[in-house]
Amino acid sequence: GAVPGSSNLKQVKLERESELRIEVSDEDLKLRVVNGTAEIFGSELPPGIWRKFPPRLKFAVFTWYGATIEMDGVTETDYTADETPMVSYVNVHAILDARRRFAKASTSTDSEPVQGPRVIVVGPTDSGKSTLTKMLLSWAAKQGWKPTFVDLDVGQGSITIPGAIAATPIEMPLDPVEGFPLDMALVYYFGHSAPITSVNNNTINNVELYKVLVKELAQVLETQVAGNPESRAAGMVINTMGWIDGVGYELLLHAIDTFKASVVLVLGQEKLFSMLKDVLRTKSNVDVVKLHKSGGVVARSGAVRKASRASRIKEYFYGPSNELSPYANTVSFSDVQVFRIGGGPRAPTSALPIGSDPVSNPLRVTPVNIDQGLLHSILGVSYAEEPDQIISSNVSGFVHVTEVDMHRNKITYLAPSPGALPSKFLVAGSLSLVDEGRR
Ligand code: ADP
Repeated sequence: GAVPGSSNLKQVKLERESELRIEVSDEDLKLRVVNGTAEIFGSELPPGIWRKFPPRLKFAVFTWYGATIEMDGVTETDYTADETPMVSYVNVHAILDARRRFAKASTSTDSEPVQGPRVIVVGPTDSGKSTLTKMLLSWAAKQGWKPTFVDLDVGQGSITIPGAIAATPIEMPLDPVEGFPLDMALVYYFGHSAPITSVNNNTINNVELYKVLVKELAQVLETQVAGNPESRAAGMVINTMGWIDGVGYELLLHAIDTFKASVVLVLGQEKLFSMLKDVLRTKSNVDVVKLHKSGGVVARSGAVRKASRASRIKEYFYGPSNELSPYANTVSFSDVQVFRIGGGPRAPTSALPIGSDPVSNPLRVTPVNIDQGLLHSILGVSYAEEPDQIISSNVSGFVHVTEVDMHRNKITYLAPSPGALPSKFLVAGSLSLVDEGRR
């Protein structure tokens, strides 16, 4: 254990093409590059400058040519590894880079411009998909490209919160602590941490809704890149869910197809690779590439993943290092309208009017009564102007319901920014956050 207030300085010398793998403890860790050059998931660390890393963050400091790293603080674990798949990853980047240049060159000549690479990263949970996505984006941005990052992983939700699918242009290498920029994000709220979830022992199947939102997102991006040669040439990097069997596999194929992926990167699973290679073999314009999983990827149990979802949601409201304060707002019930899409917990068949279909429409938008049931919910703030536009509308952000006052008919919520909501239509799902205050 550390003596409070004492300094725990430690220097680590990294040989070329090796990395220092760190799990931050319950306290912040400070780190800097003393000598040489090093990067965190594709984003170069400025030399000499101390950076602070928040509790429980797991990351690696990698060097291509050798570096000396200095740490101040106590880590959960830190060790050096000289066996990494980084050379194979950067080779993929080089191929993508060539394709981007080809696409860019075609813009001025061909009548039908060539699309830049559309890369989709697939693999089981904890294979390092998000990490590889970050590297590919940061390396591309470092060379001046502005690729679009698409996150279809509702389990983690790295752009905004879990339960959302989203896209954003990446114009600069990613900050290892701050993550993805939010200001230009295009966000759709799915509302659940998986396409099929279980709430109070009820199975909620939202596979159809998931597909519809993936399609909406793809269509909007398609129009955006059509009008923007720079982003068309830079292409897309798409992160997916770790669900790869059965319906999960079907959803991967759906995403590959919907986004017209041209490169499928399969991480750490031979079987998935050969299945995809087989079904996609007739498509000459799709390359399926197998890549090794890094030994540094930290496996997370279901409980850890659940906790990390909660902290992702907190991060949305409080910032990655707990430095932001969300704004509390109280409005009358009549100022907002809450809706739920599709599969909520269903009424028993006996309670339905005679002749009605017990299988409820998975895409039906139904109004939700405001009552204590909404307490702690995370609601999406829809851009829809009419309720029937809710499914096809993106959201401006999320609010967290912290109080429902049935006597005064008032609802109190936290929002990341001040002022009135941009719309009165709120979308509920099955996500909630029991707020134990600040982290
Ligand atoms: P997936 O997206 O496939 O579920 P992630 O990319 O999120 O997996 O990786 C899981 C965890 O492992 C993350 O916390 C990530 O930061 C960490 N991680 C990935 N690669 C390394 C590495 N080389 N060294 C240390 N930690 C790593």
